[in-house]
Amino acid sequence: MHRLCVHTITTKPWSTEECISRYEKAGVGGITFWRHNLEGRDPATVGEQTRESGLDIVSLCRGGFFPGQTTAARQKAKDDNLRCIDDAHALGAPLIVLVCGAVPGQTLEESRKQIADGIGAVLPAAEAAGVKLGIEPLHPMYADDRSAVNTMRQANDICDDLGSPEMLGIAADVYHIWWDPELKHQIEFTAAQKRLFAFHLCDWKTPTTDLLNDRGLMGEGCIPIRQISDWVDATGFKGYREVEIFSNLYWSMDQDQWLKKISDAYQQVYV
Ligand code: ZN
Repeated sequence: MHRLCVHTITTKPWSTEECISRYEKAGVGGITFWRHNLEGRDPATVGEQTRESGLDIVSLCRGGFFPGQTTAARQKAKDDNLRCIDDAHALGAPLIVLVCGAVPGQTLEESRKQIADGIGAVLPAAEAAGVKLGIEPLHPMYADDRSAVNTMRQANDICDDLGSPEMLGIAADVYHIWWDPELKHQIEFTAAQKRLFAFHLCDWKTPTTDLLNDRGLMGEGCIPIRQISDWVDATGFKGYREVEIFSNLYWSMDQDQWLKKISDAYQQVYV
């Protein structure tokens, strides 16, 4: 399980400290923090505690939400992303995942322009801090208010426009992109541009009872996880496989049992 990383949102009921100690005990290799984990804490201290436990810090979730209807709203978003970069740097997280944002009633084209503008504005600070930014395309069902970037192609277009091959790339999450007829090609293209920064896992349940908080455990849905994962590995990607599951159902379970289910499911996919 050395490539297994768990996102702390997956075990939302646990505190930051519980996530660190329980993941380590369960044999998980990496941890991706969510920003709520840093509230009321010194990011540098959390980073030290994590490294002492032996866990790798994989990324910080999340920055983004750049579009806004007013200049002030967009500036506020940029400022928040600058704070996120500072936190990631202090924490020792090499990557920030960006959920890019969208504004209901504003065209997706306009939102995408504002996203590119927002990323462009904070990219120099990310470069100076040595923190990479990974655009996470979101499933089109979230195009109204969570992200106007819905495909790997759109994310690649923004990366091409902004041109920062070392520091700006893509976080590929199977939940959001499994349906894309261009997926295999886009994974290969992204990796060839040296911008495949992260790989997220969960599954798509049928029916999905909540568009945000009913994600499935690997193996209980319809996503060809191993197939997509093999495409990712075939590019030479050696990074973590990050389990990121928002689920009211699983958050209501005993979290130690839930973590055991995750590691069992992970081992079933990667026998
Ligand atoms: Zn994700």
